[in-house]
Amino acid sequence: MLPDQLNSPDALQQLANDIKQWAKELGFSDCRIVDPELEQYRDQFNQWLAEGYHGTMDYLANHEDLRFQPAILHTGTRRILSLSMSYLPESVETVKRLKTPEKAYIARYALGRDYHKTIRKRLTQLAQRIEQAVGDHGYRAFVDSAPVLERQIAEQAGMGWIGKNTLLLTPKAGSLFLLGEVFTNLPLPVDKPQTSRHCGSCSACLDKCPTDAFVAPWVLDASKCISYLTIEYDGIIPEELRSKMGNRIFGCDDCQLVCPWTKFAKYTQESDFQPRHNLDHADLVELFEWDEDTFMNNTAGSPIRRTGYENWRRNIAIALGNAPTSESIIQSLTQALPNASDKLRVHVEWALAQHAAKY
Ligand code: SF4
Ligand code: SF4
Repeated sequence: MLPDQLNSPDALQQLANDIKQWAKELGFSDCRIVDPELEQYRDQFNQWLAEGYHGTMDYLANHEDLRFQPAILHTGTRRILSLSMSYLPESVETVKRLKTPEKAYIARYALGRDYHKTIRKRLTQLAQRIEQAVGDHGYRAFVDSAPVLERQIAEQAGMGWIGKNTLLLTPKAGSLFLLGEVFTNLPLPVDKPQTSRHCGSCSACLDKCPTDAFVAPWVLDASKCISYLTIEYDGIIPEELRSKMGNRIFGCDDCQLVCPWTKFAKYTQESDFQPRHNLDHADLVELFEWDEDTFMNNTAGSPIRRTGYENWRRNIAIALGNAPTSESIIQSLTQALPNASDKLRVHVEWALAQHAAKY
């Protein structure tokens, strides 16, 4: 039952306009409204799972109906607000850092505070502001935390299109932004969907992926993706992929950095996304030598905490194996061996072997 003040199309339109203005005031780059049709993606998604492209991310195979039927995920959903927030600080280098092999490269969204916390708080503030205006509207906010097809929702909301790199691209902001959603029971007027994709004949992301993780345009074998390997994957990283990982120790941005639309990316104004602990400039050796307490202290409130100390060192060991040979690298790797777990030892020994011929 709608409140009296919303019983006309004009009133709902005014509310939609207000919501977009409030979203802007809360730091979101874009806010669009959609009543998505998601069933059309079910077969394709299940096929992707059947191929095993999700690696060990078994949670992606769970809750199938929730993913394709928003009204099951949040009872009474009538519209979804799809929102984006840019995350790249102006001072942070990208390609230059990737090309400095003795320094660590961390995905640029992960240098500062955990985006889940920042965006969830703002989404909740937006939903509460709506509540103040119209009363209880029945809502639930999501940020990369539930079975939500966020890119497909954003595309249907008209925010941009899904590129061959599987990310959402927009002509005004490239893809260096994060997405969040508010499911609401309000029957707001919807925005015009995006019905065309503008990658054209470009294939830069497919050609430049360091580990060849794209099976085809729009089809990612996540089990080969450096983001998956360094963040989600808990095991021994396949040997044939290690030398291709370069200095990428947490995530990978290459398929965005090579995208021609990235030149339109907007810098973030959010202090939460400013790098912490010099993570945009740090030497690999310096990070490898963090003890567990330092890791826990320095990653409090950071998305990097998720990978855990052992996998953090596993990732850095690989990067040290890929770095130019130096005394400090050999020393640091050698000193790690006596107390290394079985998993870490495999990677440290591999890294030392990369330098053996040169040292
Ligand atoms: S994030 Fe990196 S490894 Fe993963 S698909 Fe993109 S370019 Fe390839
Ligand atoms: S690099 Fe080219 S093909 Fe890949 S997403 Fe960007 S525009 Fe599309």
